[in-house]
Amino acid sequence: MVHYFDNAATTAMKQSALDAMIPLLTQTYGNPSGAHKMARDANRVLDDAREMLSNVIGCKPGDIVFTGGGTEADNLAIKGIVDLQGGLAVCSAIEHHAVLHPVEALGGKIAPVTPSGVVDLEALASLVDEEVSVVSVMAANNESGVIQPIGQIADVIAQKNPAAVFHCDAVQALCWLDIKEHCAKADLLTLSAHKFGGPKGVGALIVRDGHKIAPQLIGGSQERERRGGTQNVAGAIAMAVAAVETDAQRNEKVKQVARLRDRLVEGILSRVDNVVESGVTDGDRSHKTANICHLCFEGVESEALLFLLERKNIMGSAASSCASGAAEASHVLAAMGYSKSQAVGSLRLSLGYETTDADVDAVIDYLPIAVQQIRGANR
Ligand code: PLP
Repeated sequence: MVHYFDNAATTAMKQSALDAMIPLLTQTYGNPSGAHKMARDANRVLDDAREMLSNVIGCKPGDIVFTGGGTEADNLAIKGIVDLQGGLAVCSAIEHHAVLHPVEALGGKIAPVTPSGVVDLEALASLVDEEVSVVSVMAANNESGVIQPIGQIADVIAQKNPAAVFHCDAVQALCWLDIKEHCAKADLLTLSAHKFGGPKGVGALIVRDGHKIAPQLIGGSQERERRGGTQNVAGAIAMAVAAVETDAQRNEKVKQVARLRDRLVEGILSRVDNVVESGVTDGDRSHKTANICHLCFEGVESEALLFLLERKNIMGSAASSCASGAAEASHVLAAMGYSKSQAVGSLRLSLGYETTDADVDAVIDYLPIAVQQIRGANR
């Protein structure tokens, strides 16, 4: 039996999303830009997907730009604004590399976070001057699970420079937060289907009414000239179906998963010494999404721990999935003030809607043994 604890990297597809996808690949597979019936039918499905998704997100159907995933949507947001308006990009130090790297490549500015992993609002305010055209802060961090106060951040930006566009990477949020409410004040929003039961390789940038972006894929006039290329209709409808189902299940699932996560963290903390939980003091996890157990073990290298866990069919990760395997320590932990020796022993166990008590028990039973084994070998 596999104990899957890497849901923040990707999730299993929901059956409903898979079912919605198949007819678009086998029957209604027309190109949605075409003129004939099969094309028009496919285009209608794309419209349905936009309508469904817009209800979950709280935007207009026309605000949705379908992309090839979260990375593309993040790049489109940052580069799409700077290309069009000039000016500087600003982002927080804990952004996913899909935001951080474009901002750095454009010579942008980076806002620090507090030790609890929340963006430092004063420092952010000091960076948002009249030169800034786009500010990007994520809804929830992919490593620590720390939730950012998106409404407050939007207010800070509006006060300092009302012309600056606020982009929010909400890739990690949909399963755990009501985006409609939490991200209501963001001008641009990134989504990625495979984080909430949709397929990989499809996502969206929400460009709220009145905002303009320069396309980064130039070709056809699809997506109202904001992203050239034939749309992934099957992916788009599967994403929309997964989003609707996730939205309906969220309240119940957040409670269920938070209980399992708390049991997991507390089970580990009570059995292993010299371990810290990222961004948490006095056991208060109220500023974190329900799914993340993120720990740093002193005297342990993540790779060794992941190797041992995998031998017991426990699938975890060290940092973000893109960075794991790389020897460098997590930029998120560094930004939160953790030392390199703490960060190299980090472990992220990310739960999902399907995680069970048996999965949690498997980790609680074996992880202390694995940590002891590695520490013993290092002595
Ligand atoms: N942004 C965040 C916060 C993520 O966690 C990820 C993926 O892990 C991405 C962006 C990139 O999304 P995608 O895998 O769809 O390119």
